[in-house]
Amino acid sequence: MKKSIETQLLESDKTFKKWKNVPFAEWQELLSKLSKTLLEKKEVFAEIITKEMNKPIAQSVSEIEKCAGMCDFYAKAANVLKPEQVETGHEISEIHREPMGVILGIMPWNFPFWQALRFAVPAILAGNVIVLKHASICYKSGDTMEKLFVEVGFPKGIFTHLKVSHDEVEEMIANPVIKGVSLTGSEGAGRKIAETAGRNLKKCVLELGGSDAFIVLEDAELDTAAKDAAQARLQNCGQTCVAGKRFIIHSKIYKEFLEKFIAEYKKFQPENPLDKETKLGLMAREDLASDLEKQYKKALKSGAEILLPLTAVGNMAFEPGLIEMNEGNPVLQEELFGPLGMVFKAKDDDDALKIANDTMFGLANAVYTKDRKRAMYFAENLESGSVAINQIFRSDWRMPFGGRKNSGYGTELSLYALDEFTIKKSIIGE
Ligand code: NAP
Repeated sequence: MKKSIETQLLESDKTFKKWKNVPFAEWQELLSKLSKTLLEKKEVFAEIITKEMNKPIAQSVSEIEKCAGMCDFYAKAANVLKPEQVETGHEISEIHREPMGVILGIMPWNFPFWQALRFAVPAILAGNVIVLKHASICYKSGDTMEKLFVEVGFPKGIFTHLKVSHDEVEEMIANPVIKGVSLTGSEGAGRKIAETAGRNLKKCVLELGGSDAFIVLEDAELDTAAKDAAQARLQNCGQTCVAGKRFIIHSKIYKEFLEKFIAEYKKFQPENPLDKETKLGLMAREDLASDLEKQYKKALKSGAEILLPLTAVGNMAFEPGLIEMNEGNPVLQEELFGPLGMVFKAKDDDDALKIANDTMFGLANAVYTKDRKRAMYFAENLESGSVAINQIFRSDWRMPFGGRKNSGYGTELSLYALDEFTIKKSIIGE
């Protein structure tokens, strides 16, 4: 391992040993400042995001506002990590939660501030120290967050951004200083990181890709559902893990809904991401645009039908596409990370459920129906970490977030996230 990385890890470990016993409430005061500073500088941070990965600037501002809201939530959260007394018959019988130490976060480019802070904030509040390996197109975001932690009063070294390669990540996970790792990224990266973490017996949280269903039943409010469906697929240029990617429409309203859906979909046309009115930006990288085109061609070759063509505009932008999928199409088991939606016709509720669950992913499905009982049937039987009813799924810092199946494991957000990187120590005696 490079000397500079090793030195940095040792520094992080020293920082951990010095600050691990800071009372919860003290970190909360600093989180409150972090929240305020994020809001004060939201335009500056948003511009960094947009320039790095082409997200429409209004969506970048929303991302920073969401980070601020999440920090404020943890700044006011109940301390669920206090020692717990348990009735066992022994005189001393307590559970203590101790921070694990230096935790490595490996983060993606699609929400450069949100993903990194969503992982780091609860882990730090629990007493851990963070080193971040950010996506290689998001170094400015990584550096800016590192500075921000110091600016609001956190000790230097609580959140450190390291510009490291994939091989160096592997070495870092093997290093004894690193006690846990959290990856938000693709399924492929998840397999690699989990393998390395497993080999080194390190705790691992994986927030991976998705191919979520957006189900519209025949009694749904169709205008709202159509508007939401377009927004769900096309926000962040279709590069969102929890985006609705597979649209499963009840056969009774198939034609009627599709007309409305396509009309809404066409309102998203690629524009300059720095323009405040822009709804659809560009893809984050040229290679990702070319990957999406390849998947589109593969889906068509395997029997999918075009409802709206995916049309390249230059090297990094698309007029969004929609395809009607056929059973057994191999692309069904892949994640489409861009402005291309897949449409299915369902015979009835059970058929819709079957299509929805027929994927290796399971992040956040959505169902639209006016019938609460039917909605709950889907909510209870959809194989995903979250389900949204009559609304686009958006993670909420008060609620736990995580995937099932190949979408990963572990929990982020809510009070549960505070416990992800702690050791539950049993203390028992007379
Ligand atoms: P990615 O290519 O897997 O990269 C994610 C991070 O992992 C980046 O920092 C990347 O570094 C690093 N990485 C990739 N392979 C690695 C390896 N073998 N060893 C060490 N580090 C490695 O994913 P992405 O394209 O940035 O992000 C999009 C993916 O993230 C999608 O699949 C999306 O669904 C998923 N995602 C999931 C969630 C969730 O909460 N479940 C949220 C957001 C995104 P480099 O940039 O240097 O390659």
